[in-house]
Amino acid sequence: MSMVIQGETGDWEMVIGLEVHAQVTSQAKLFSGAATDFGRPPNSQVSLVDAAMPGMLPVINEQCIYQAVRTGLGLRAVINLTSVFARKNYFYADLPQGYQISQYEQPIVGEGEVVLDMPDGSTRRVGIERLHLEQDAGKSLHDQHPTKSFIDLNRSGVALMEIVSKPDMRCPEEAAVYVAKLRSILRYLGSCDGNMAEGSLRCDANVSVRKPGEGLRTRAEIKNVNSLRFLQQAIEYEARRQIDLYEEGGQVVQETRLFDANKGETRSMRSKEHAHDYRYFPDPDLLPLTLTPAYVSAIKADLPELPDQKKERFVREYCLTPYDAGVLVAEQANADFFETVAKGRDAKLACNWVTGDFAAVMNRLGRSIEDPPVTAEHLGQLIDLIADNTISGRIAKEVFELMVETGQAPAVLVEERGLKQVTDSGAIEAAIDAVLTANSGKVSEYRSGKDKLFGFFVGQVMKNTGGKANPALVNDVLRKKLEG
Ligand code: MN
Repeated sequence: MSMVIQGETGDWEMVIGLEVHAQVTSQAKLFSGAATDFGRPPNSQVSLVDAAMPGMLPVINEQCIYQAVRTGLGLRAVINLTSVFARKNYFYADLPQGYQISQYEQPIVGEGEVVLDMPDGSTRRVGIERLHLEQDAGKSLHDQHPTKSFIDLNRSGVALMEIVSKPDMRCPEEAAVYVAKLRSILRYLGSCDGNMAEGSLRCDANVSVRKPGEGLRTRAEIKNVNSLRFLQQAIEYEARRQIDLYEEGGQVVQETRLFDANKGETRSMRSKEHAHDYRYFPDPDLLPLTLTPAYVSAIKADLPELPDQKKERFVREYCLTPYDAGVLVAEQANADFFETVAKGRDAKLACNWVTGDFAAVMNRLGRSIEDPPVTAEHLGQLIDLIADNTISGRIAKEVFELMVETGQAPAVLVEERGLKQVTDSGAIEAAIDAVLTANSGKVSEYRSGKDKLFGFFVGQVMKNTGGKANPALVNDVLRKKLEG
């Protein structure tokens, strides 16, 4: 998918690359044993290493290496058996070391890819340039005191994976789908919880525009966008700003910009001309990190089924459309719920219920799949009752609402409330006879050629039986009676 934007001077296209900072799921920080829990009192999870006390030495946390390798494999990427930690030097109040330990020329993970599942059912590949491990900085709090800023170092030294894409995206929607898919993969792997609101997943967008067929033009980087909606708005705004600038005869300068969500616009933060020269150099406190092929293959052998594989299996095993399968596998808990419902049943029907009425009730009640309004077992039983003709599809919707209200099993509700479908042909015949007698005028009209009245008769019979008559039987018997 490529989106062409019409300008005064002809067509333009967007070129988008994303850098995602994903917080590694780990009990301890990248180079210290301090805890990483979110929302603890300020400065309560800070070791001497994180506070950069003189003489402290970083010690690599093996769990973070394991998570980075797992993630690299999940992105079908090259794992570099040797990687190097480097110091990225800059001054900021929330960075007590005066440098961030990151990886520069030799990251732990090289090129890979993410497959985007677009809403129209098509797929698109976005290349991954690299993934490297680095420390997070602390946090400056500017809103606690009228004249002072406070520093919270709880986040200082927490492990991040910086995942850099190639500039392969061409519209804001692709960027949002990319981040959502990346998040899904990370959550399947358990290497990052993907919580954008808590800052576990932060997104920088590199945006440039060009005439179709041209090489790359100068890009601007939009920093720290924390929702998919803002990401799309920011890219949209930034591309338009650059096009307007070019068309007025101006030039785009390479710079870092911030998205102001209240105004819906990006504004300049610092220009790269004055940008830091970070003076990267290998951290003398850390040896190059070397992995054995056996270590990597053991992790590979232990990978869970990931969204792409699960989607493919759902299409194959359950005959779902790629779109339906893509929706179901985005969250592992949803996929598991669906599989429990679908097991041994009509998968298409199960899919319709899970993505339809069930999803709607979840939204309405603000419930999560971990705390569903109806259990997978009960939803499955409801589908069984439809399949064996105990209830019609229409009554099933009524039963479903009762299940949500009462938490009871569908069979109990159907029994208690007398919702069983009438399949007794004697009872249906009687109901039909009553309708035909009461509408003898319409019967004559029908018999003299007004076929459309058939639906009216069906409607009357269903109404008089409280919707419980088996529709197929009603059709059958009614046709015979009217023609006889
Ligand atoms: Mn970074």
